[in-house]
Amino acid sequence: MIQTIGIIGAGQMGNGIAHVLALSDYDVLLTDASNAQVQKALKTIKANMARQTERGRLDEATMTAALARIKPVAGIPELADADLVIEAATEDEDVKRQILADLAPVLKPEGLIATNTSSISITRLAAASERPEKFMGMHFMNPVPVMELVELIRGIATDEETFSAVREVVVKVGKTPANAEDFPAFIVNRILMPMVNEAVYTLYEGVGTVEGIDSAMRLGANHRMGPLELADFVGLDTCLAIMQVLYEGLADSKYRPCPLLVKYVEAGWLGRKSDRGFYDYRGEKPVPTR
Ligand code: NAD
Repeated sequence: MIQTIGIIGAGQMGNGIAHVLALSDYDVLLTDASNAQVQKALKTIKANMARQTERGRLDEATMTAALARIKPVAGIPELADADLVIEAATEDEDVKRQILADLAPVLKPEGLIATNTSSISITRLAAASERPEKFMGMHFMNPVPVMELVELIRGIATDEETFSAVREVVVKVGKTPANAEDFPAFIVNRILMPMVNEAVYTLYEGVGTVEGIDSAMRLGANHRMGPLELADFVGLDTCLAIMQVLYEGLADSKYRPCPLLVKYVEAGWLGRKSDRGFYDYRGEKPVPTR
């Protein structure tokens, strides 16, 4: 039975995953390469739960108990006794492979490993985990406390017990699982990211302004967020990494990342998480950056 869940990477996704797991009675061990990120994540979780409490969706006692179930830990060796470890670090295959190589020798033999990757091959990452039968994709959506879907992706060797144990966690946290095959970017991002990339091309070619493109898609296609707002929300580095995985993995030029997206990432303008992307978030209201 799964009771203790380790999370590696305490960024936007790691903090959201910790939030929903703790509210469903799991004990969470949270770690990140940067201790400052873990501290920031704990603050974010507290603020997000407090907001849910104010809105009457959560009572104080449940919130206090959930927060007490999230334990920050210094590093991967402290995850040894976890029943499941969810890797939610930066979308970079080398980073993830290194994490898995560090985790493999310390995690108890029966421990399961899931990755929250948005696009990278589960079968390839499974090979780095040294327990491919106990490894799979568990792709939460952003923001985790709000979004209902979790994509479940089996690697070539994932066994049935692993799949059903991870699926059970998804159901217990109140999310809906969707099965996807192990192809670049799975279902949601295979469809969503080319649209985001096309919106950046539309901006690059001067077809519309930042606000023009976003309002066109909100009002004209009935999307809740414009594609450039959405890109800032996801993180432009993550959007670029997904496009690169699609481009290389499917060997089709239609997935080539827009040079303007590359330029924003090179500038360190990664969207909301760095306070600037297609919009500048440092003031009261977001202001378009071009
Ligand atoms: P993020 O940049 O907010 O957080 C990534 C975190 O990983 C950072 O805190 C960083 O310090 C940490 N990290 C980097 N290297 C590490 C290492 N070696 N060990 C431990 N921690 C390390 O990114 P995010 O948006 O939270 O994305 C994390 C993962 O979730 C990625 O695989 C991404 O593709 C996936 N994902 C993102 C979204 C989204 O909308 N942002 C949605 C679904 C899935």
